[in-house]
Order: sequence, then structure tokens, then C-alpha cells
Amino acid sequence: MEDKDLERYSRHILLPDIEFEGQNKLLQSHCLIIGAGGLGSPVAIYLAASGVGEITICDFDEVDLSNLQRQIIHNEKSIGKNKAESAKIAIKQINSNIKIRSIKDQLNFSEVMALAKDVDIIVDCSDNFDTRYSLNKIAFDLKIPLVSGAAIKYDGQVSVFDFRSNISPCYNCLFPEGNEDQNLKCSDHGVFSPLVGLVGSIQAGEVIKVLLDIGTSLNGRLLLINNRDTDFKILKIQKDSLCKICA
Ligand SMILES: [Zn+2]
Repeated sequence: MEDKDLERYSRHILLPDIEFEGQNKLLQSHCLIIGAGGLGSPVAIYLAASGVGEITICDFDEVDLSNLQRQIIHNEKSIGKNKAESAKIAIKQINSNIKIRSIKDQLNFSEVMALAKDVDIIVDCSDNFDTRYSLNKIAFDLKIPLVSGAAIKYDGQVSVFDFRSNISPCYNCLFPEGNEDQNLKCSDHGVFSPLVGLVGSIQAGEVIKVLLDIGTSLNGRLLLINNRDTDFKILKIQKDSLCKICA
């Protein structure tokens, strides 16, 4: 680590459990972020600022005016630009020392699988069930951790599926495919702006903790947030012995 990095990351290096070794490990880590919207914005900002050394961010969508209410990595000049590309420009201004790659194409399962082979962790910041099930399967097959988040209206949730352990449940244990409500889209129902910041910030924190093995992660647990009444609950997730993905 160079002197300027010691200064940049000094407040992390001061923390017990992170220290110099942890910060160095973060700098050598590669994180795949799927989605550069409401959740992907804080996730990418915090991971870049924290010095995760390599970030790959994917989004095929373009920034529009209605995104700016909550997708804080983008700004008025980003309107019409691809979201992953816009996020890359913002990240470079936050931390020019890390490697950042933006993927603008809509990827199929095998293309995401190929990308994920090189990463240490996947962060699901997508807004649809098809992507969530695909990322769950990919992370399970590759035995890498998946940090999952979702937000709609005033309600958010975060969980970690740490597939480095054989006993970890998976996203499909929690929400078996076929029972999902495909109509839950924030374009139809709205989403409270700071909620995505809350969910995304917790996801970013879980990424760092899982990468550095700090404290207790949300592995095997589901955090439920109701931002309207400021209520937080944690539920235990049971591994489903009949799960079609992980059983
Ligand atoms: Zn499962």
C-alpha cells in the first residue's frame, strides 16, 4: 500500500478487525454489482470509497429523469446515458485508484456466469425476480457469497447467502421460484427515496464484512426494514431440504 492509500483509508485501518491487513485485502478484492439503480448507487459509491480494488458493474438501462429521485450515483448530466457507464464515471471521481469495469449489455445466464468466475462476491442490486434467481444459482454453483437486497414502497430487505459454507440456505429456499409476485415493480408502486440508500448501505457493509470475515453477517438471516414506521426485524432463514437449487 502506498503512503497516499494509508492516508485515504486511515479511518478503516484504525478499526479493529480491518486494520492494514483488512484494507489490503479489500484492495485485492473484486466485486460484481448487478444493477446501477437505487440499490447499486450506494453499493457502488461505498465500495469504491472503501477501496474495493476492482468493481464490475452491470446495467443495460439508461438513466431517466424519474431515476434521479433516488439513484444518487447519477446526475442531470447522466440522463440518456447507460447507467453502468454513468456509474463508472461517478466512481472514478470518488476513487481513481481502483479498477472499474462497466457492462452495458443485457447479459444472459452464461455471460453472467463467465463474469462471476473472476469475482470474490456478487451484489444483487437488480429489480426483478429472474435476475435474482439467476444470481442465486450462479453464486451457489461458484461457491461465492451473494449479498441480496430489494426495496419497494416503504419496505426493504437484505440478506446474505454465503455459499462458501455448505449449510447456507439460498434465495430459492427463502422465496421458492414460482411463488413470486412479478407485479412488484417500483415503476408501478413507487419507492421511498432514502429506503434504497438504507438497503444499499447495509448491502455494502455486508460485502465488506463478508470479504474480511468481520462480525456476524446476515448469512442465513433476512433483515426486513419498514422505513415508514422505522421498524427493523431479522428473521432466520431455514435451508429447505427440498430446495431445487441447494438441496
Ligand atoms: Zn436453497
